[in-house]
Amino acid sequence: MKRKAIIIGAGIGGMATAIRLLNRGFQVQIYEKEKSIGGKVNILEKDGFKFDLTASILMTPHIYKEIFFDIGKNPDEYINFNKIDPFYRVFFEMGNHMDFYGNINETIESIEAISTHDSIGYMKFIDSTYEKYKISDEDFLRCNFDEFNSFFNINTFKKVFKLKPFKSTYNYLRKYIKDERIVNFLCFQAMYIGVSPFKGSNVYTLIPLVSQLYGLSFLHGGMYSYINALEKVINELGGEIYTEAKVEKILINEGVAEGIVSNNNIYKSDIVVCNAEYSYAVENLIDEEFNTSKDRTLKHSPSVFMIYLGVDKKYEKLMVHNQFLSKNFRNSIESFFHGEICSNPSIYIYSPSRIDSNMAPQGCESINVMIRVPNLIQSREKWDEDYIQSIRNILIDKIKMIEGLDDIEEHIILEEYLTPNDLRERFNAYGGSAFSLSHNLFQTNYFRPHIKHNKIRNLYFTGGSTHPGTGVSLVLLNSKLVEECVLRDME
Ligand SMILES: Cc1cc2nc3c(=O)[nH]c(=O)nc-3n(C[C@H](O)[C@H](O)[C@H](O)COP(=O)(O)OP(=O)(O)OC[C@H]3O[C@@H](n4cnc5c(N)ncnc54)[C@H](O)[C@@H]3O)c2cc1C
Repeated sequence: MKRKAIIIGAGIGGMATAIRLLNRGFQVQIYEKEKSIGGKVNILEKDGFKFDLTASILMTPHIYKEIFFDIGKNPDEYINFNKIDPFYRVFFEMGNHMDFYGNINETIESIEAISTHDSIGYMKFIDSTYEKYKISDEDFLRCNFDEFNSFFNINTFKKVFKLKPFKSTYNYLRKYIKDERIVNFLCFQAMYIGVSPFKGSNVYTLIPLVSQLYGLSFLHGGMYSYINALEKVINELGGEIYTEAKVEKILINEGVAEGIVSNNNIYKSDIVVCNAEYSYAVENLIDEEFNTSKDRTLKHSPSVFMIYLGVDKKYEKLMVHNQFLSKNFRNSIESFFHGEICSNPSIYIYSPSRIDSNMAPQGCESINVMIRVPNLIQSREKWDEDYIQSIRNILIDKIKMIEGLDDIEEHIILEEYLTPNDLRERFNAYGGSAFSLSHNLFQTNYFRPHIKHNKIRNLYFTGGSTHPGTGVSLVLLNSKLVEECVLRDME
């Protein structure tokens, strides 16, 4: 008889793990609390506009494809990845903008227009960070550190030493590049997984490095096309997905996970894989006796506030991915780590309709405007209508400063928001954090919650709150580690 796996949540982690276990001969059922699957990688569709709900930056398409290859399928039959060029346009509050291209020659030309010293520095940054990337990819991101000895050994320490992770992102970049605008552009990317570039480890400079090396990709129809592709594979392999099926409890008998309770029904299984966030799960789905003291001290990443704008005009100045960097960049970034929103924020602006006519009605654009904000643990802000409007007005005033966007407010025909409350209510994101557990050095590798529960047999975790961490690519890598872990235990 087939072994049965129950998966709690149909986020990227839950779906990818489902595919891997189905491929290994498991019977798989996914229970998802929401109406739609995909978790945070979701879509908002209204009045002919389509918006990627959260994730929009697609790095390392080879990792997106890997899951298809691993189960003997051709990704090209499910999904098409297109390169975006330039991959970023960066608007500076002081005026003017810079473009960054997948083709290094063109990026270097952009930088040379500012200073030759910095174009040399940029190449040196790529050179030295590439080695770190290779070490991280092979010896950290793709390794499971659940066991003490797997991390605490001489080999791993040698690799940590090579990574030199203790210098901050900002200080690391300044070693190579003098122009603050270029440093800020790179810092802004290094912050994507919610770590302060001024305090957090420089290992996150791997993010701008990977963007430059592999470019950024785009999926026709937005990121949700990837969810549709994964769903298709799950159906082909005979997996079952139940939506509007909130899991209320994980059944544990004498220290062994035996199934779940959902909508007051009991469902039994051989293993349970939890894709709901770790901190939410230990507080709500697992009996308290199994919690560890560390569970209570975990730190969570900041949140986001997003405005989805449907506008009845084309904005040629915008690229797909844009940054608006304020003149007090450092303060605009550090403030939300201290529980405040800066009155002069730096902003990420995403407009997929620039290259995909599917995303907006003819002659219109769909635009996401996003800033980092404190999570609901760092700040007690209620995010009521008045507060949302006040932050909204600050952001709209800022983007009106971009050349060619001064009339944008008059052209808004659709406007929606995403707040930390929405992330908490909709996805059980703990404290409304956007990027699950923060990636400080004491919450990475062996120190991040383990894939396999320390005290409960047959209970596993998949998703951004376990190793290697948050972001679609990392969660996809995590699903592979979950598969390995389950198979090892079943031997
Ligand atoms: C605003 C924002 C922007 C982002 N931008 C990017 C980006 O550009 N690029 C990138 O790669 N990543 C980005 N990310 C990160 C990326 O979206 C996440 O890391 C990834 O989607 C997390 O996947 P997951 O499987 O860990 O969790 P989730 O997507 O949170 O999935 C968990 C699932 O479990 C379900 N669930 C929770 N509790 C229960 C329960 N009790 N019963 C049943 N189901 C339950 C939830 O509804 C959800 O569907 C962004 C995130 C945010 C919030």
